[in-house]
Amino acid sequence: MKRIEEVYEEVLNRNPAEPEFHQAVHEVLETLAPAIEKHSRYQDYALLERLVEPERQIIFRVPWIDDEGKVQVNRGYRVEFNSALGPYKGGLRFHHSVNRNIIKFLGFEQIFKNALTGQGIGGGKGGSDFDPHGKSDNEVMRFCQSFMTELYRHIGAQTDVPAGDIGVGAREIGYLFGQYKRLTNRFEAGVLTGKALGWGGSLVRTEATGYGVVLFAQSMLQTKGEGLAGQRVVVSGSGNVATYAVQKVEQLGAIPVTISDSSGWVHDPEGIDVELLRQVKEVERGRVSDYASRKKGAEFYKEGYVWDVACDIALPCATQNELNEKDARTLLKNGCKVVAEGANMPCTPEAIELFQESRILFAPGKAANAGGVATSALEMQQNASRAQWSFDRAEHELTKIMEKIHDDCLATAEEYGQPGDYVLGANITGFERVADAMLQHGVI
Ligand code: NDP
Repeated sequence: MKRIEEVYEEVLNRNPAEPEFHQAVHEVLETLAPAIEKHSRYQDYALLERLVEPERQIIFRVPWIDDEGKVQVNRGYRVEFNSALGPYKGGLRFHHSVNRNIIKFLGFEQIFKNALTGQGIGGGKGGSDFDPHGKSDNEVMRFCQSFMTELYRHIGAQTDVPAGDIGVGAREIGYLFGQYKRLTNRFEAGVLTGKALGWGGSLVRTEATGYGVVLFAQSMLQTKGEGLAGQRVVVSGSGNVATYAVQKVEQLGAIPVTISDSSGWVHDPEGIDVELLRQVKEVERGRVSDYASRKKGAEFYKEGYVWDVACDIALPCATQNELNEKDARTLLKNGCKVVAEGANMPCTPEAIELFQESRILFAPGKAANAGGVATSALEMQQNASRAQWSFDRAEHELTKIMEKIHDDCLATAEEYGQPGDYVLGANITGFERVADAMLQHGVI
């Protein structure tokens, strides 16, 4: 569609050298043509041009002092992309690969994901090129305090509510919250999510993204009259999303057989032991090779990757573009019939095309990993009412939300004549909710 091509050309011109951002925008725009043709209102008021331009982008210096007394300088980001549906919401990523391009791609994805949850949250993302790996607790604390010393003036429970992402877990959220409280002299619980349970956190938030991915895969399988029991599942990553995806896979009677990190990957044909994984990763902050050295039958590899292992279901849960065309061919050749993205944009466009051509079940991250942000919104809801729900209640709410996202994607795909196309379903469902709100708010 000409209009969409023009908008995309303009994105390329205005945002040079930002390949992941281009990829994320392209992936959404290329599926929107039927919605824009059907509803002419989406062609007016430069709606698409406004949608691809962040409302606000903040970049700041983050100086801190390491354990040797040396001054270190990192760069901090917060991209407040779209607030049509509610306060900006999205995680903070601390990883050496972070730059404006990465934060913009994540923020753009977040708009549609958050819209899909139906919970009144806008889209944003932030982070830093600071890498917590190998840093002492005191260094992480000093970094977080310096980061928040700038960020605090831009966020708030009604404005912008960050959470965790790669490299940002409960420890970092604790230090960030402490500094926010100190600077503002307010215990504003709803300003950050992913908090510890003793001071405003929600049960199930830690598990939510991983659990949600598996629940989404289960809903997809059910459309074919199948369940998870007995299926062999390949998982990448060994962080928050991967760990709790592994746990839910086991709970539902399937067998998770791999994990990975940036040093290599592990094949454990008997099934990953989630308690050992948590001990190695969450308590000892170790590597997946430490897991393999302590688990009988598990092998650690530096070469190849998890996608080489034959499976029924693949759950990429580590990082962007970690599953390419070649990997997709291998998975298909080995009989994989479901791919659900736990990470954000883990499959390359070529890999997605192959999955869709071969008509296996493919769930984009916007839909499949929305359980994390959905439970963050439940955390905000509990903070606002000064309540703490039981594990069962929070998990019940998460399950309902994931089922609804699944059904909404499917219904939209059906409505637009592409039954079973979860990519189109997710993009158009999210887009229509955001676009209608933007039109109702006028040109801002
Ligand atoms: P964690 O930091 O807890 O774990 C990330 C995992 O991925 C680690 O095992 C890490 O290995 C691995 N990894 C990260 N970068 C690379 C890389 N470049 N190459 C190889 N392995 C890598 O992060 P999360 O589990 O929270 O996030 C994982 C993905 O899920 C991300 O795409 C994130 O955006 C997405 N996501 C997270 C949500 C959440 O609630 N946490 C919600 C929705 C999406 P290593 O330790 O060696 O770096």
